[in-house]
Amino acid sequence: MNSQPIVDHFVGGAAFVGASSRMAPVYDPALGTVSKQVRLASTQDVSDAIAVAHAAFPGWRDMSLARRVAIVFKFRELLEAKKGELAEIITSEHGKVLSDALGEITRGQEVVEFACALPHLLKGEHSFNASTDVDVYSLKQPLGVVGIISPFNFPAMVPMWFFPVAIAAGNTVILKPSEKDPSASMWIAQLWKEAGLPDGVFNVVHGDKESVDALLTHPEVKSISFVGSTPIARYVYETGAKAGKRVQALGGAKNHMLVLPDADLDLVADSAINAGFGSAGERCMAISVVVAVDPIGDELVEAIKSRMGEIKVGDGRRACDMGPLVTKEHRDKVAGYLDVAATDGATVVVDGRGVEADGAPDGFWLGPSLVDHVPTNSAVYLEEIFGPVLSVVRVKTYEEGVALINSGAFGNGTAIFTNDGGAARKFVTDIEVGMVGVNVPIPVPVAYFSFGGWKHSLFGDSRAHGEEGFRFFTQQKVVTSRWLDPSHGGINLGFPQN
Ligand code: NAD
Repeated sequence: MNSQPIVDHFVGGAAFVGASSRMAPVYDPALGTVSKQVRLASTQDVSDAIAVAHAAFPGWRDMSLARRVAIVFKFRELLEAKKGELAEIITSEHGKVLSDALGEITRGQEVVEFACALPHLLKGEHSFNASTDVDVYSLKQPLGVVGIISPFNFPAMVPMWFFPVAIAAGNTVILKPSEKDPSASMWIAQLWKEAGLPDGVFNVVHGDKESVDALLTHPEVKSISFVGSTPIARYVYETGAKAGKRVQALGGAKNHMLVLPDADLDLVADSAINAGFGSAGERCMAISVVVAVDPIGDELVEAIKSRMGEIKVGDGRRACDMGPLVTKEHRDKVAGYLDVAATDGATVVVDGRGVEADGAPDGFWLGPSLVDHVPTNSAVYLEEIFGPVLSVVRVKTYEEGVALINSGAFGNGTAIFTNDGGAARKFVTDIEVGMVGVNVPIPVPVAYFSFGGWKHSLFGDSRAHGEEGFRFFTQQKVVTSRWLDPSHGGINLGFPQN
């Protein structure tokens, strides 16, 4: 018999147990212990949740925009007032430090604020007298029940890329968060209830592949918004599209920072540290490769290395800069790349495996690690590591750097560091990556633009939030209406001409 707390599903405005008895452990990564068990839904459990969301749809779709926007506003106000509670939950299950957890909530909140513009964003178009006595107008209508499947690394922000827009647009939602840190979504569900969202509009179902497959194939789920690793993103895209759904599936990343010789190396070194080791490198927009254009490589590596000693690793609830990794398994996998680096001929400049963390001995610790002269055929260079391992690659020219970045499988984020505006401008044009920074290491777009990468970082053609988000969560209907003058035009079998 398990004595740990159990994380239930949230369906129809209340906790939902479901029929499945399967569960998964949830860890406190800074302690290295299991803190909870989370339910893993069966196909039937998911189906029951979808039925509830489906039943709630007509009422929510038909609620006036004024009333809908008031609820989204209220949610925003409650989130602003209480987000400290959510940050603590995130830190206790993900491990990231509290300030970073607050940061992800703030970025998610920006999407909620954007969604408050729903009356404007849902406006259609209107043409008066397009033909004689004929008016044409378009409606943006919600899809119905929409599915959101999210990764462990942003348990609040990534769901918030989607659900504020989906809900604002009049859809009902099933969120399937990562089973590694499921409690943030339960807190969010309660907050929606407090904000006055009708029961059944926002539902949370926990689970693994079985629940994902159930969402991907159920006929009442009209769209899927997925974020996670590339192999699963591809699978979700293909399976969902085959079942006739609208799918946006955001995948993994390997983000490069190209450093030109004229760049401010202090700014570069600070940026590489922040973007490489923030959230222990478990960010899809983390910088994982610094591409140094000759001759600055040695000086830059020294500048990064000298700063790494200042990073305080430890329990995210204490005054630390970097927390543990999410699970022991993931920590071991990431640490294994340091052996691969040495075997493949790279220079391990800083090995984080011996880090002394300010936390429990069994926490999933790995200190910041720096690997120089990484061969570009090594798995360290080619694969997404998703941890605090920063690689440095040397190139002779700007052109060689751009060609290297463009040859990669991923295209999520990238950045150039330079004081040459012309070079930066050329980079913005040349580079085959969806989100580009100029002297900005993590160029995550603000909420009223859209977030999404190129190549294996995004399957589908719709990115998250911004106007594209509202387009994804609505379908257009065009109405052609004719109100006749008292006289009747008579029978005419041809297309109307005027
Ligand atoms: P993951 O792919 O393991 O899991 C993501 C989701 O898919 C989870 O909800 C999980 O339960 C589910 N899932 C896992 N295995 C599955 C399977 N076999 N079939 C169906 N569903 C399955 O990803 P993760 O480890 O939770 O998150 C890290 C990954 O997410 C990294 O690759 C990171 O780059 C990526 N990510 C990308 C972005 C982006 O914007 N492109 C943002 C955040 C994270």
